[in-house]
Amino acid sequence: MTSLDDIPVTQLKGVGQALAEKLGKLGIASLQDLLFHLPHRYEDRTRVVPMGSLRIGDVAVAEGEVMKTDLVMGRRRSLQVTLKDSSGFLVLRFFHFNAAQRNQLAEGARVRCFGEVRPGRAGYEFYHPEYQVNPPPMPAEGQATLTPVYPLTEGIQQPRVRGLCQQALGYLQRYPIRDWLPPSLLADYQLPGISEAVQLVHSPPADAPVHLLMEGRHPAQQRLVMEELLAHQLSLLQVREQIQAREALPLLPRGELAERFLESLPFQLTGAQRHVMTDIRQDLSQPLPMLRLVQGDVGSGKTVVAALAALQAIEAGAQVALMAPTEILAEQHYQNFRQWLEPLGLELAWLSGKVKGKAREAALAAVVSGSAQVAIGTHALFQDDVVFDRLALVIVDEQHRFGVHQRLALREKGVGDRLAPHQLIMTATPIPRTLAMSAYADLDTSVIDELPPGRKPIETIVIPDGRREDVIERVRSACAAGRQAYWVCTLIEESEALQCQAAEVTAQELSDRLPDLQVGLVHGRLKAAEKAAVMDRFKNGELDLLVATTVIEVGVDVPNASLIIIENPERLGLAQLHQLRGRVGRGEQASFCVLMYHPPLSSNGKARLQALRDSQDGFFIAEKDLEIRGPGEVLGTRQTGMMQFRLADFERDKGWIEPIREMAPGLMPNREVVAALIRRWLGEKIRYGDV
Ligand code: ADP
Ligand code: MG
Repeated sequence: MTSLDDIPVTQLKGVGQALAEKLGKLGIASLQDLLFHLPHRYEDRTRVVPMGSLRIGDVAVAEGEVMKTDLVMGRRRSLQVTLKDSSGFLVLRFFHFNAAQRNQLAEGARVRCFGEVRPGRAGYEFYHPEYQVNPPPMPAEGQATLTPVYPLTEGIQQPRVRGLCQQALGYLQRYPIRDWLPPSLLADYQLPGISEAVQLVHSPPADAPVHLLMEGRHPAQQRLVMEELLAHQLSLLQVREQIQAREALPLLPRGELAERFLESLPFQLTGAQRHVMTDIRQDLSQPLPMLRLVQGDVGSGKTVVAALAALQAIEAGAQVALMAPTEILAEQHYQNFRQWLEPLGLELAWLSGKVKGKAREAALAAVVSGSAQVAIGTHALFQDDVVFDRLALVIVDEQHRFGVHQRLALREKGVGDRLAPHQLIMTATPIPRTLAMSAYADLDTSVIDELPPGRKPIETIVIPDGRREDVIERVRSACAAGRQAYWVCTLIEESEALQCQAAEVTAQELSDRLPDLQVGLVHGRLKAAEKAAVMDRFKNGELDLLVATTVIEVGVDVPNASLIIIENPERLGLAQLHQLRGRVGRGEQASFCVLMYHPPLSSNGKARLQALRDSQDGFFIAEKDLEIRGPGEVLGTRQTGMMQFRLADFERDKGWIEPIREMAPGLMPNREVVAALIRRWLGEKIRYGDV
């Protein structure tokens, strides 16, 4: 039987090759694709708003008579049309217009227009509104419908998409959309069937509750939201299945190396570290690849956990790869692991993008021969020419910067063709529970929810950059008292070169202003060896003040540093600020974080800095970040398109997460349903693993 999925959009009136190609850019090939191109909001054009009651920012319909039409020369030439109704005036302004339009909008014409209210020179204005001259009467109350607004691509206008969707709806009667959800489930949640839901969202009837539709809470919308969230969940479970379709080498714990390692540490594991180790030990001893995410706030001691996992693998005769997202962090892990593991007689290989020539050959040889039990580095670890002898455990630090497809790719580096490596993923960005359930459905999670004993709280101060003098003074007195400080420069430009330049200027300024202090500088453009040298001098206490770009974000550990100044914190995400702040508060003395913003702050910016000032709990901060910026930003994967929904909104719809997490595994055995839902909602994306 033919289905909507088999009917190409070219079947519709007015769709030729050119338009079909543009629609293709939106992922629309068939009529079904078109009907799943859903309106992301609605406009209420059901009633005319009196001009006297318009407010700035309103999006509204107004209607009145043209009083006069002027050509205004000014900075940009514009056509200015002044309308009046019985309650007031409104100016329509056009920067692009032709003679015909100008004639149409002549004095005395009746005009209905739709636009957003902006402040103007002599009152409120609409720029380039949609308008009709001599409009037909408005539908009677109770008969008007909301106007759907669709996501667009270049060269396709809103009315065009609307028209096409309306045409496509005409096919729904003959070719209903296949409903993949069990009727009992729909009944449980009182949701409509799929065809009914699709029909309603594209063409809401006049009697549909306006506020529900506007907020996306109408049962028809919720039906689609639920199906969309379910499809995402299923796609992640599928990734998990694909990874676990291969066996893994069971790594049975013997515990001798671990014991010697623990004895060498100057501290005891926290209870939370021990719990997480129990999970990991258990996973690693299975013949299935471990897929475990360990979340732990900054400073919770994830590195020790990683080392213990590595030792279990090494004892079982396997190799371990440890990958970090930046050179600095990878290098710090390398130093830590050397210090810990070399005394146990183990060999490490160091592979980063900057390791070249002979050094790289030697590292590659140690990895392929198996003489190095551990390889540490950046992405460079997973280039094609890196061949492991018997890789059985991959540890990834700061997972939120890697995508699902990289997790899939790792599978290929395992022992022989048959076995996949175990994967341990560590993140210092606490992920709110609901988000984790949905974004990391392919992973098991453990949380290190306890900091090592003796940590002092960090006092956070939010001040405008007008008080830079006071801040410099504060640095002077802290360093005079034997403390050390960080000064972090941020720049809005993406350009690393500009960021480094700004840091250089600041370092120069501060060393001029603070002649008694030793000031150092690290940024992304320094050679690895130079960076390491500066970091060493800071660690040894030879430097009092370290000026840095955000490269120091992760992992840097200098307990005597008790003051951190962050310039322009309003430019960074909360999670990143929390990370930066975590550079202090690692030693005995009281620590301070000064957030020196550039006024004026937006209300959003204020709320964010306040959240940071009020809390040091990474999970609380992550919840706030999620509320304020949305999941894409929190996960740091906006570019890769992860968690970009057509209809679902993470905040509004989080009530679905738990039920979906419960129902998804039950659907997995039904291959046809899983494939169809993933195809329907994630389309081609999934094929390239870009999710
Ligand atoms: P993160 O989770 O941020 O990666 P690290 O592993 O870098 O944290 O640990 C932060 C600091 O705490 C390090 O100096 C580490 O040696 C120390 N540390 C880790 N575990 C403990 C513990 N159980 N008791 C005391 N200090 C610990
Ligand atoms: Mg760390």
